[in-house]
Order: sequence, then structure tokens, then C-alpha cells
Amino acid sequence: GASRSLNFGAGPAKLPTEVLEEVQDEVLSYLSSGMSLMEMSHRSKEYAKINKDAQDAVRELLNVPSNYKILFIQGGGTGAFAAIALNLINRTGTADYCVTGTWSEKAAKEAAKYGEVNLAFPKPKKLGNVPKQSTWILNPNASYVYYCANETVDGVQFHYIPETNGVPLVTDMSSSIMTENFDVSKFGCIFGGAQKNIGPSGVTVVIIREDLLGNPMKICPTVFDFTYVDKEKSIHNTPATFSVYVMEKVFRWIKKNGGVSEMEKHALAKSHLLYSAIENSNDFYSCPIEKAYRSRMNIPFRVGGVNGNEQLEDIFLKESEKIKMYQLKGHRSVGGMRASLYNAVTYEEVEILVNFMKEFQDKYE
Ligand code: PMP
Repeated sequence: GASRSLNFGAGPAKLPTEVLEEVQDEVLSYLSSGMSLMEMSHRSKEYAKINKDAQDAVRELLNVPSNYKILFIQGGGTGAFAAIALNLINRTGTADYCVTGTWSEKAAKEAAKYGEVNLAFPKPKKLGNVPKQSTWILNPNASYVYYCANETVDGVQFHYIPETNGVPLVTDMSSSIMTENFDVSKFGCIFGGAQKNIGPSGVTVVIIREDLLGNPMKICPTVFDFTYVDKEKSIHNTPATFSVYVMEKVFRWIKKNGGVSEMEKHALAKSHLLYSAIENSNDFYSCPIEKAYRSRMNIPFRVGGVNGNEQLEDIFLKESEKIKMYQLKGHRSVGGMRASLYNAVTYEEVEILVNFMKEFQDKYE
């Protein structure tokens, strides 16, 4: 087969090779149909099965209780920023947002189009330091409390579930869904775009507690109306059929590889390996995020000192690409490097990165 690169991209990101090979096998003829799934009606029995299998897999893999619905929508994570407010803010007209990075900030701005948004704490001057929950000011009358479980750009992750005293909790798990076990019943609504840990772009998974359905704003677009989407079993209009099809294969791959618990173990081991390399580099490499909030998925780091040396960072990127390590450049808003270690990235690949970093340091320090 084709040789595969080492892909540390933040999303769209690496997919398991086995999944891509299966897709390759089926691309001219899905189940002897003489056509690919891409060319088939979304009303076909084949697609109905894929859609249902994918929803059942989410339920099984994340232990989703029966009073929660699983939906697939389009519009990406950004679409969900709007959809969350359009479906949930109506109850009291206000919502509390925790801004800990780029994506929660965008979500708060989007929601402010549809209702009153309060920040649970002032946006930290330096992202990476999340204020202690005891200092947050939450409105008991808020329709929901929103936070981003893992800030993909900034590398800030919550390792606990905030307490909201009965106010429904909403979270963006776009870059962490299916990478750790958690108690779904603590949430009102969970969403995540597929393009990092669970599939190609084009589909967003929404898990919502049943009693939160039924109260969308009048202006809520039909494609974002969770109540309607649920009623139509996520085939309300033409879904991103190919994306759901690949995502369903990724779910089977996760199951085959030990489920979410095993993904969690790998995520811990991989991120530990990279953070240790950074910590043990005498500040040649550095990560600005407070230890308690460091992401297991997206690890931003500077090269050549605590504030980074841009020239050296350029060389780092060029040399890494020579050995087929790609997409290590950090987000333009933070600079430096970022290694994303999603489910499909193997421990061995992180070892190769860490060895490269050691050699690079020996050469340039
Ligand atoms: N939330 C998070 C945590 C993300 O990482 C991203 C995209 N990287 C988004 C939301 C936005 O997703 P999309 O590009 O699909 O709109």
C-alpha cells in the first residue's frame, strides 16, 4: 500500500489506516451494489442501517443513558455554536459561558446573537490559566452553562466536570469526544464535530437530554432544530452520508481496539511522553499551559526557549517535514508548534516525534 505520513494535524486529522482501506475496498461497489455509498440515496435501506449503527455505536461507546437522544447535524462545530443557543436559550433567554480559549470565545459570540450571554469569569488575560470554579459567578436562572472541554487551538482541557447546581451543562467536545470516559448524565447537551477523533469533516454528533428538546426559538433553522432532527432520526434532509459512513467505521475501529477506555489509556501515555520531553528539555522546548489544564489531545509548544525562537521554529518545521512529519505548525493566533495526538495517532509515532525533538535540540541548542 501507499506509505503514510506522520500526521499531527489538528483537524481534519489522521484517520485509522484500516478504516481508509475499508473505504478503498468499497469505493466502487458498496456491498455488491455496483455503486459507492456516496452515490446512494440517503433514503436507502443501506444508509438507514449505517445511520442507525452509528447512533447505536455512540450510545454503546459513551454509555449514553436512554433518556438522551443522539443526533447528527451538519454545519460543523461552528454550526453547533448557533444551534445550541437556538435550541436551548429560549427557556430563560440567558446563558452562562466559560471562555477558556478560541473556540469557547467564538461560541459565546455566536450565542449572543440569540440571547443574553454572561461570562462565568472574565476572559483570562493569558489563556491557559482557567480560574478556579469557586471564583466563577453562575446565574442560577441561566438556561444553560457552556464550556469547551478541550480548546484545540490553545491546548487547554478540563479534567473535571464543572458543577452547575441543576442548570443544564453544555459542552463542546469537538476535539476530545471518544478519547476518555465520562458521565454523560452530568450533561444537558454534548456536541462534537467529527473531524478530529471520529471521522471526516461534515458531521457533528449531538447528544441531548430528552427534556431539553421541544423549546427551540421560532427563528431556529429547520436543519438545526434538534426536536425536528430527532423526530426524523437525523435523516431530515440529505445528510453528509459519506462522513457518517466513515464515522461509523471509525466507531467500529474504536470498539475493536478496546473502546473508549483504551483510547483514554493511549491518550494519557502519548501525551505524557510528549509533555515529559518538553519538561526535560531545559526550556529548549516549552508549553505555556498550566499543568492542571494541559490537553491530552493538542499540545502547543515553543522551540528555542520559553518565548520561542521563530527562526528555529521554521527550521524545526522544515526538518520535521523531511522525515514526513506533517501539520506540526501551531495555530497562527498562538505561534510555535502544536502536536495533535488524536485517537488514530499511535504511541510509536509520538516516539518518533520525541526522538526527533531530542536530536533537534542536540543539533541546535
Ligand atoms: N470547537 C472546537 C473545540 C474546535 O476545535 C473546532 C474546530 N477546530 C470548532 C469548534 C469549529 O469547528 P468547525 O470548523 O467544524 O466549525
